[in-house]
Amino acid sequence: MAGDGHTRGMKYVYHPSYQIALPAGHPFPMSKYGLLKDKLLSEGIMAAGDLALPEPIDRPTLELVHTDEYLAKLEASTLSPVEQRKLGLPWSEALWQRSRLAAAGTLTAARAALAQGMSANLAGGTHHAFADHGEGFCVLNDVAIAIRQLQAERAIARAAIIDLDVHQGNGTAAIFEAEDAVFTFSMHGERNYPLAKMRSNLDVPLADGTQDAEYLDALRRHLPQVLERANPDLVFYLAGVDVAAGDRYGKLALTEEGIRLRERWVIDAVRGRGLPLAIVLAGGYAPTRERTAELHMHVFRECAASSEFPAVDTRRPAATAARSSEIARP
Ligand SMILES: [Zn+2]
Repeated sequence: MAGDGHTRGMKYVYHPSYQIALPAGHPFPMSKYGLLKDKLLSEGIMAAGDLALPEPIDRPTLELVHTDEYLAKLEASTLSPVEQRKLGLPWSEALWQRSRLAAAGTLTAARAALAQGMSANLAGGTHHAFADHGEGFCVLNDVAIAIRQLQAERAIARAAIIDLDVHQGNGTAAIFEAEDAVFTFSMHGERNYPLAKMRSNLDVPLADGTQDAEYLDALRRHLPQVLERANPDLVFYLAGVDVAAGDRYGKLALTEEGIRLRERWVIDAVRGRGLPLAIVLAGGYAPTRERTAELHMHVFRECAASSEFPAVDTRRPAATAARSSEIARP
């Protein structure tokens, strides 16, 4: 039922080991994951029964995206100091386990989205991971792994990636550059990291200091044609909140209301077309971890408010179900 603030039937994938210890003062907000999970429970958006653990993920699945050489380095803990600096996180067994769990969580969430219409992984969105290296806090490209695995199983043929993290999804763009079946859309700070941008199917660069009106206008102009051109069986949304004013790395200036409207529009555009939606967190570096978790809440509050949209038609195989061109617009 809509309007009671609970995302009824929506699965949230989470694992306690999404959080690992980092050296004191490290800028990565590792504690936001547990904070967000607790907030979702305490606000009643998510019930304890809506939580799911990531399914196990094996090496052949990782190999669908990542090179054997890179995976071997991760397995043997032989990343060089330069490679670790590029990654921005100190290497550890715990980080390797966390990276696999988070990637597995996105695959699990994607399966739940195909079955139930909408789902989330309370981590993921590690879009700076390339096939052969990690960077920018990203070890494995979780969304790419989920897409390739689901394609291999013929659960989906086509996918769209809506990447609204403030940083360009450079790893994802590079991984899918030559693949027509996966549409990559990235709206990001033009002068922000990564300075060398890769080519997405659609890149929308934004000036430093971009505010709500300009940001939302760009989203409104591009989102319908992204879904039209992508013609996806499944949509991934990287709901990074590092677009917020005051973010340590973001350089944009969205208000909370701007972020709320952004989440509303993405959910409406995707679910209004009857398409399954898998949400992953991506970045967010507000002055406090609590504030970062609070900004991540908006997408889930908007999910709760949107439960009037029809579930995916699960009577048909996903790969042939509900193409946007066959769905009447709301
Ligand atoms: Zn980011």
